[in-house]
Amino acid sequence: MSRLAGKRAIVTGAAQGIGRAAAELFAREGAVVFAVDRNGEALASLASCQPIVLDLLQAGAIATGLSAVGAVDILFNCAGYVDSGTVLDTSDEGYRLSFALNVHAMVDVIRAVMPRMLENGGSIINMASVASSVIGVPNRFAYGASKAAVIGLSKSIAVDYVSRGIRCNVICPGTVQSPSLDERLAATGDAEAARKAFIGRQPMGRIGTAEEIAELALYLASDASAYTTGSVHVIDGGWTAA
Ligand code: NAD
Repeated sequence: MSRLAGKRAIVTGAAQGIGRAAAELFAREGAVVFAVDRNGEALASLASCQPIVLDLLQAGAIATGLSAVGAVDILFNCAGYVDSGTVLDTSDEGYRLSFALNVHAMVDVIRAVMPRMLENGGSIINMASVASSVIGVPNRFAYGASKAAVIGLSKSIAVDYVSRGIRCNVICPGTVQSPSLDERLAATGDAEAARKAFIGRQPMGRIGTAEEIAELALYLASDASAYTTGSVHVIDGGWTAA
């Protein structure tokens, strides 16, 4: 079954991790997928998608980079950055980068894509995290604050455009296996112990996979979720169930 037949999609952060899994799944389900990332080398191996090499932090580059795409039905804003630290020891740079990529670049992409999306309606899916307004996670001050902003901006878009054919939903994963997760584990100095600690907070006793999150993104992208907007979709192996 081709659940996205005839649809056109943009996926950001598509070179690796959840974004890559979603871009591949959307393409398998029949969508024409424009895969956006700054990592052109990794994008080149995404054979099923049309690559757009773009640094989302470069002011002005987003509108130019996406101008040739035309109207799309689906926008999955997946690119993000995980900063570590408390309110007192988070660096200024990490704090600014968290908001620049996780919030401001997301809004820039939405502003670039929405005017054409309004012609036929569409589905916007924004990547947040359970580390947000869902729960506080230790040492994730800037990350959690920026992902809470993602939830707020998504609900605002959902309310403003519900009568104009645009839906906007949020995905809040728990811990998910990805290249950047491996980097964060390595940065602790004892990757094995850090992995055990991460798994320890998962009631299911394991970390999620990018493919599992991509399936939720597919549901929200497809017409199967036509009655859903402004919703926060937690997918975390039961981490926040208690
Ligand atoms: P990742 O962090 O491994 O990859 C992120 C991708 O975004 C990379 O391909 C990178 O090149 C791209 N990117 C980063 N900065 C960019 C920029 N300025 N311009 C263009 N592209 C840029 O992937 P992941 O761990 O699967 O995370 C994807 C999203 O899911 C992020 O928003 C993250 O916050 C969120 N998330 C991840 C987890 C997890 O445990 N992995 C949990 C909850 C939420």
